[in-house]
Amino acid sequence: MKILAVGKNYAAHAKEFDGKVPTEPIIFMKPDSCIVTGNKPFYYPDFSQNIHHEIEIVVKINKICKSVEEKFAHRYYDEITLGVDFTARDMQQRFVKEGLPWTLAKGFDGAAPIGEFFPKTKFVDIQNIGFSLALNDNIQQSGNTKDMVFTIDKIIAYITKFITLKAGDLIFTGTPEGVSAVKIGDNIKGWIENEKILDFDVK
Ligand code: MG
Repeated sequence: MKILAVGKNYAAHAKEFDGKVPTEPIIFMKPDSCIVTGNKPFYYPDFSQNIHHEIEIVVKINKICKSVEEKFAHRYYDEITLGVDFTARDMQQRFVKEGLPWTLAKGFDGAAPIGEFFPKTKFVDIQNIGFSLALNDNIQQSGNTKDMVFTIDKIIAYITKFITLKAGDLIFTGTPEGVSAVKIGDNIKGWIENEKILDFDVK
């Protein structure tokens, strides 16, 4: 199983990040060892002093797909959930500045907690879903999939030009604005619409 992720897929977050809204999807990967399920704690690693939460809608691929046309992309996923694309922002900023890959800043153990999956049929329109993250019960990020720069179907069409996706692969579809630092002792909760999907502690 592999995890693909999209960078700067919400214009307001792209602006808070570096001001540049992408004209082509920015794709990176996280290893499967990032995944944490069951609302187990996020253990703060000792190699960073600035870990940010990025709340994201996560799509699970349901069958092998390669060079999928955008209009058929919806056939290749049935379920979605919520995940946090934890990012060691201090490391990422250093890597970006030096023109180096940011794999370790995004790919460390535990950097992708995810919730339970829901059938996409639960939602009238997959591109009009509200989701949010609360840090210590204060809403810190609030987004809607209608604000994606690239829709889920566009992302799948784009990725599969280059990389074959297989059943069980996950796509983190980008974070809205409001990313911020977490610290030991914090609690993170996440919702899709009114359904609580994530509730875990930072230890
Ligand atoms: Mg992200």
